[in-house]
Amino acid sequence: MMGKNQELLRKLPKIDEMLQDEHLIFFTEIMPRQVVVETLREVIDMVRREIIDGRREEIPAVEELAGLVKQRVFEEQGKSLRRVINATGVVLHTNLGRANLSRRACESVLEAAGYYSNLEYDIKKGSRGSRHDHVEQLIRKITGAQAAMVVNNNAAATMLCLSALARGKEVITSRGELVEIGGSFRIPEIMEESGAHLLEVGATNKTKPADYRKAFHGEMTGAFLKVHTSNYKIVGFTQEVSIRELAALRDESEEFSVPVIYDMGSGLMTDLSGCGIGEPTVTEALKEGADVVLFSGDKLLGGPQCGVVIGKKEYVDRMKSHPMARAFRVDKMTLAALEATFFEYQDSKRAMREIPVLRMITETGIRLKEKAEKLCGQLSEAAPSLEFMVEPCRDQVGGGSAPLVMLEGYAVTVSGEDFNAERSERLLRKEELPIIARVARDKLWLSVRTIEETEFKWIREAFSKQNQVRWQDA
Ligand SMILES: *Cc1c(COP(=O)(O)O)cnc(C)c1O
Repeated sequence: MMGKNQELLRKLPKIDEMLQDEHLIFFTEIMPRQVVVETLREVIDMVRREIIDGRREEIPAVEELAGLVKQRVFEEQGKSLRRVINATGVVLHTNLGRANLSRRACESVLEAAGYYSNLEYDIKKGSRGSRHDHVEQLIRKITGAQAAMVVNNNAAATMLCLSALARGKEVITSRGELVEIGGSFRIPEIMEESGAHLLEVGATNKTKPADYRKAFHGEMTGAFLKVHTSNYKIVGFTQEVSIRELAALRDESEEFSVPVIYDMGSGLMTDLSGCGIGEPTVTEALKEGADVVLFSGDKLLGGPQCGVVIGKKEYVDRMKSHPMARAFRVDKMTLAALEATFFEYQDSKRAMREIPVLRMITETGIRLKEKAEKLCGQLSEAAPSLEFMVEPCRDQVGGGSAPLVMLEGYAVTVSGEDFNAERSERLLRKEELPIIARVARDKLWLSVRTIEETEFKWIREAFSKQNQVRWQDA
């Protein structure tokens, strides 16, 4: 027995030989060589232990060893930030990266990332330029604002705005609008950090113009702040003060010019009321008299993560020259993506077609049903042991936008005798291109709104594997 093991161990391939083998040689070129060598050593050690313990009676083929090495390297060295398929039907899924960029935006990012650019260079004059210029013209043209600026996200925009315009002064805000957006962003806390003082007025459900008027203290007042309650709604016996009313209050005082700041969150550019999304648009906010409007780049705008600031030039200029502006500035890839996104908005029909977020939100029930039927047909063929059905479902905008809006969607549901939806969901997440789906009522739901047709093949492959699963064996 012992002798046989010794013999096997002697036959184990040498590391150097393995590295020269056709099954691994290419792999050492596409992966860091050191990583491949270390993993190969681990795999051979593992096989050696198995032989010594008597768990292995043959030397594995070189091909098998190479396969083990590749699998381990991929598992351990694979990218941490990876693409996934979003089958949840939540368009702006915060955990899945919010907005997908348009083709044009993706191409612009690639170019900005891989090549030199005129980021801070004026090509015509041959001298230093400003990174703000690239998108400012276009944003002004599309929104009609006097000035614009872009920072890292809307939270940064709010912070910078309060600090630049109201530091050391009171900022009057409704008690119904002291929003928390995902854990660390809370209006009262941002306010404190910015050095402005929050002056809450009204009640949770009702705030009136008179409440603001009473709180207005001339010199002491730094700004009127309105925050769009983008991720919740107060319903019932309610009243809120509109931008128009705040602008009128501002205009009552000729002596003090107090800016009306509007933190809009979603940054909707085109009217989506046809889909039941009654969010205010950016241009409406300006028209109603807001002095500064702040919104996210990666919510309903459908662009990269950033915070867009638009409004009166004097206020935006004060933000641009604030020392913190540097700490919040965006990189060239963000600017490239944002410019390309705004480019599409020059033609609203085009924006609906080209910007994935808008396309997904406005997709009609008929189209979604057709898409679901197509996926359903493909899956039924790939996995005859499972039962696939097209069923209506309720999708969401997500990203803390339009919380009450339920979009009428369609899903392919998966069920079957002994089928285990939870286990199926886990298996989908383990795919090379992970698929994120939902489980409800003992079925697995794949909402097609957020799935591209080009992604069907991955789902098909995943289910053809699940076709073999024996669901009873837990
Ligand atoms: C989402 C949101 C923010 C934060 O925006 P980020 O871009 O995620 O930083 C701030 N204010 C409101 C009203 C929002 O809806």
